[in-house]
Amino acid sequence: MGTQTMVKEFQLFINGEWTPASGGETFDIINPATSEVSAKAAKATAEDVDRAVESARKAFESGIWSNKKPEERALILQNFAKKIVEKAPEIIYLEAISSGGTIRKLSNADIAQLVLCLQQTAKSALEYKYAESLPIVTALGPSRNQIVREPIGVVAAITPWNFPLVLAMWKIAPALMMGNSIVVKPASYTPLGTLKLAELALEAGVPPGVFNVITGPGSTVGERLVTHKEVDKVAFTGSTEVGRKIMKLASDTVKKVTLELGGKAPAIVLPDADLDLAIPGILFGVFFHSGQVCESGTRLLVHESIYDEVIDRLVEASKRIKVGDPMDFATGMGPVVSEQQMNTILNYIESGIQEGARLVCGGKRATENGLEKGYFIEPTIFADVKNDMKIAQEEIFGPVLSVIRFSTEEEAIEIANDTIYGLSAGIWTRDVVKANQMAGKLKAGTVWINDWHMFRMDAPFGGYKQSGVGRELGMNVLDEYTEVKHIHTALSNEVEHRTAFRLLF
Ligand code: NAD
Repeated sequence: MGTQTMVKEFQLFINGEWTPASGGETFDIINPATSEVSAKAAKATAEDVDRAVESARKAFESGIWSNKKPEERALILQNFAKKIVEKAPEIIYLEAISSGGTIRKLSNADIAQLVLCLQQTAKSALEYKYAESLPIVTALGPSRNQIVREPIGVVAAITPWNFPLVLAMWKIAPALMMGNSIVVKPASYTPLGTLKLAELALEAGVPPGVFNVITGPGSTVGERLVTHKEVDKVAFTGSTEVGRKIMKLASDTVKKVTLELGGKAPAIVLPDADLDLAIPGILFGVFFHSGQVCESGTRLLVHESIYDEVIDRLVEASKRIKVGDPMDFATGMGPVVSEQQMNTILNYIESGIQEGARLVCGGKRATENGLEKGYFIEPTIFADVKNDMKIAQEEIFGPVLSVIRFSTEEEAIEIANDTIYGLSAGIWTRDVVKANQMAGKLKAGTVWINDWHMFRMDAPFGGYKQSGVGRELGMNVLDEYTEVKHIHTALSNEVEHRTAFRLLF
């Protein structure tokens, strides 16, 4: 398993150049499928963060990017998308040896999302209102009033390890499109692909300094970025715990903050659901990418009339998921990202057993057929879960489904909303009218009806409650990367027409 023969060292990407960390240190990138070192990355210091922010600031103030016309920036983003397609095999490889994502997922879902995100952002930005004139009113003296949108300045993007490239691109594309400079800090398990993106953006025509990547620990590099006075906005995706901390840290310099955080999504199965569709759909909703997806449907709420049948069919269908080498196209579920994450998940499984949930499938490491060195976990399903159990309330971020029984729709909605999270939710039913009524009662940023994990680049994504602040994707995201300015121009030069002055004189 794994084809890595030589360990490559990746440097920081600052001001359009590869540069070692000022302290000369590196850290290991581990291939979670084999537990072997697959690469090394530079461990940035606070000084490196300052250098990256300085170069981003300088590029921004120079106007080399921020003053370009949207049409010019859109063309460069289109070019960036082309470069990604050309280099797709290399990007997929770098992601696979660090994140453990299957090449089936990476080549079909991730690369397509990167390209679509760039294309859609460029398209939306060309339709965007950069300036708008308000109707002239004369009450306080005639004036012309314009609302203009301007880039914010320097954006810091801090990203997680589960979809390292896609979640970075959700920030990179709108930040660049609207004329900002950006410094990206990827998660330490998975920085390789993001470094490659910065190189490709430069080749595509994004000027040096506009797009920088620094790698290193969140506690030092991340915090330095979040507290840096020259950073104007922080765009973060990661855990709710770290999100809370970032919001606090960013408050000292009153930065704009967008947060995409954790989830514990309810999937409701009504008695009339088409189970031939729902069973594979539910499993796709929870086990895709080994359950390491923020919007996974991890709490399954099943009506009592079909409860036993649903459990039996889920267990049966789970056996058809191939857990194995992510480099094999036949593999549906690869490893989880790290030994630490594997142990966290195994501890949650243990807590489910301790709290009295009924383990009906999986529940341990997958070690057969050469998987013993990697961090593989079997698809795991718990029945008879109560919504106050730890496995129903806390985000596990692994292949673990908690199945809860309900008897009325009101009860289902109540259980669904009984969580600190509100990222996504779903309903399986043949009655789409009823499903739409229920969707209105679910406190979640996205509701899927008879589907899961479906994204549109032109539809907003983000969380209610403690799942986040702000939205990514969609037209709205462009607002999140701009400042808004009101310019009032008085159209009368005669002092006697300026009635407001009389408030003083
Ligand atoms: P994490 O919160 O541990 O880390 C995310 C990033 O923050 C990493 O780059 C990390 O180095 C950095 N970081 C850590 N501590 C920091 C600090 N004190 N200051 C600044 N930066 C710091 O998350 P993770 O384990 O990488 O990713 C999994 C989490 O991400 C899950 O909770 C998942 O739900 C969430 N997630 C959310 C979405 C979404 O769109 N809502 C998408 C994917 C993942």
